Amino acid sequence: MSTIAFIGLGNMGGPMALNLLRAGHALRVYDLAPATLQAAKAAGAMTAASPAEAVAGAEVVISMLPASRHVETLYLGNADGGGLIAAIAPDTLLIDCSTIAPAASRKVGDAATARGLLFIDAPVSGGTAGAAAGTLSFMVGGPAAALERARPLLEKMGTNIFHAGAVGAGQVAKIANNMLLAIHMAGTAEALALGVANGLDPKVLSNIMAKSSGRNWSLEVYNPWPGVQDGVPASRGYSGGFGSALMLKDLGLAVEAAVAAGSAIPLGELARNLYQLHCQGAASEDFSSILKLYRSVL
Ligand code: NAD
Repeated sequence: MSTIAFIGLGNMGGPMALNLLRAGHALRVYDLAPATLQAAKAAGAMTAASPAEAVAGAEVVISMLPASRHVETLYLGNADGGGLIAAIAPDTLLIDCSTIAPAASRKVGDAATARGLLFIDAPVSGGTAGAAAGTLSFMVGGPAAALERARPLLEKMGTNIFHAGAVGAGQVAKIANNMLLAIHMAGTAEALALGVANGLDPKVLSNIMAKSSGRNWSLEVYNPWPGVQDGVPASRGYSGGFGSALMLKDLGLAVEAAVAAGSAIPLGELARNLYQLHCQGAASEDFSSILKLYRSVL
């Protein structure tokens, strides 16, 4: 069993860390929010007062943070110094599961390699339910040898582990996936709102579309209409889940990647604009709350 430093215990990191604990690994955890640390402690993790304390003596470091700047600061430090890469023992395996810019992953990966550390970017898909159930999909970028070392741990948190390519490739796959997710969530909300505005029951319409050519994950697994499905954020006031601000961040990453490669992403740009408007009032609510943009005109 490995000693693992786990940094970032939010909606995703918290349940992922729990699955590693259940598998018998020793975890030293760190998060800025004391409440998340207390929850992990109650589940058997050791808590640390700083990232440096969490990684001391760990064979593996896993991070699950909001955005590029958090990951870069954690590993590379900032103007005030710090940065774990300078302090971690050689041969430590670093697994960053956050969704960040591919360029930021490469920057951290290059610095890690220069110090003899193994680094993979391993962003995930499957939402908070997948994190809790241990059924996430991992999209991995990095050397095959690093992935093989990480695999037994990833298998405790997920069921599908894909090797997308070199460092940064996992992020590219994740960004493309989330752009598609935003598009079909907005489309699903739009279709449901159209049906309801024309007198249909949202549950009846969802059942019809789920067995017709409009079927998709947002409709069938993560329905945005309150009360249509149990256990989804829409049915608990859009709490928990995947925050709209995080979806907006991912759509911004898609736009950056499109500009860098000269790709056209008209629907992705439209989805980013919808989430930009939506985040003015609902940034912390789950991304399925995009439905409110449509309901406000019903
Ligand atoms: P979250 O906001 O719930 O959790 C982030 C955690 O990081 C918080 O507990 C916060 O206190 C902590 N944190 C922030 N800065 C820190 C720092 N410098 N040091 C230590 N801890 C710090 O976010 P989340 O929903 O868990 O998402 C995490 C990442 O996973 C994001 O990149 C997101 O895009 C991605 N993701 C989320 C989902 C989802 O459904 N929520 C699904 C797939 C991927």
